[in-house]
Amino acid sequence: MAINEKSYAYGASKSSIREIFAYGSARKAEIGEENVFDFSLGNPSIPAPDEVRQSLARSLELPPVQLHGYTPANGIPAVRAAVAASLTRRFQAECGDAPVAAADDLYLTCGAAASLSITFHALVNAGDEVIVIAPYFPEYRVWIETSGATCVEVLADQSTFQIDTEAVRAAINEHTKAIVINSPNNPVGSVYTRANLEALAAVLREREAELGTAIYLISDEPYREITYGAEVPWNPAIYDRTIVCYSYSKSLSLPGERIGWVLVPPTNPEHDRLVLAVAGAGRKLGFVCAPAIFQRVLADCVDVPSDVEAYARNRKALTEGLTRLCYEYIEPDGAFYLWVKALEPDAEAFFQKAKALDLLPVPSDSFGCPGWVRIGYCVSYETIVNSMPAWEKLAAQYK
Ligand code: PLP
Repeated sequence: MAINEKSYAYGASKSSIREIFAYGSARKAEIGEENVFDFSLGNPSIPAPDEVRQSLARSLELPPVQLHGYTPANGIPAVRAAVAASLTRRFQAECGDAPVAAADDLYLTCGAAASLSITFHALVNAGDEVIVIAPYFPEYRVWIETSGATCVEVLADQSTFQIDTEAVRAAINEHTKAIVINSPNNPVGSVYTRANLEALAAVLREREAELGTAIYLISDEPYREITYGAEVPWNPAIYDRTIVCYSYSKSLSLPGERIGWVLVPPTNPEHDRLVLAVAGAGRKLGFVCAPAIFQRVLADCVDVPSDVEAYARNRKALTEGLTRLCYEYIEPDGAFYLWVKALEPDAEAFFQKAKALDLLPVPSDSFGCPGWVRIGYCVSYETIVNSMPAWEKLAAQYK
């Protein structure tokens, strides 16, 4: 009996990030943890804030059925109300008189991965296209394709890594259902400026009017809180047809706990039907509800700030070290990734030379863009400092 070939193919061709991480773990067992400089995975090295532990301890005192029971599919009402109130406090000024979020606009999920798959399934019909800005988080393609759409790559401006809005204009056609943006960005660390986002919104509106279609902006924001001073504009205030996908994997260092949300802002023209389509997509995909204990953590920690200091210290050590060695990179305004120019046109060949020195960045081809590598600096400070001699040896091979 034949099995599903598409699923087989996704299982058989692992993400290259995961493959490099697995190689790094095996290599550490072989030659010692301190001798391998693994920059592959976006797993936060900062512990979750103490408020998370306190919230978990409080949850354990609840009656067992409440503690472990199913919650409503879209999440515990009081938790959604707490998240909506926090969003309102933070973004009301950008929205003027328009409402920011109410409890019923939110659907709690198992992290951004679920938020995005649910959103694609809520929007897409057979034959639709979804635009991604390359370089992009590689799992987007998997989730877009499994929702039934075609993933269309549009290269970012190759000098600034902002959105190339004219290239987006050219890529939009009558099949375009949505565009996914991610700022602060994985893999580049760039933060899209307000002017860039306004220009994108203008292009989307113009193309909608020309084609007589509706184009959604899906804003994937797991790194919103991790910035080094840059403004991260609230997209629903810039473009009406926005859906926000969020996760606490990075901001509260909870990637293994699977908790996040989808927001259909009340200003979205198709709000009521979209809220139901999001709920229907969650149902269709079998999510049932987000983890109950971690829903309650949100109610307690919704305004707890991310500890960005440690990442800022790593960023400084890494950029200063690589600058001394004459590497070229894009100055990161957010997230915890550095986008470094490979020292030869073939990023994979450059990666193989790095790997021979036990340096493990991720070559850029896996993100849909040639010629660069991504260094994830959500590692220990010592890993960064101790990796510098290897980066020096790598650069010396190209002198
Ligand atoms: N989107 C981006 C840009 C990411 O970098 C990640 C994870 O690294 C995700 C989505 C998925 O995050 P989550 O752990 O919340 O599913």
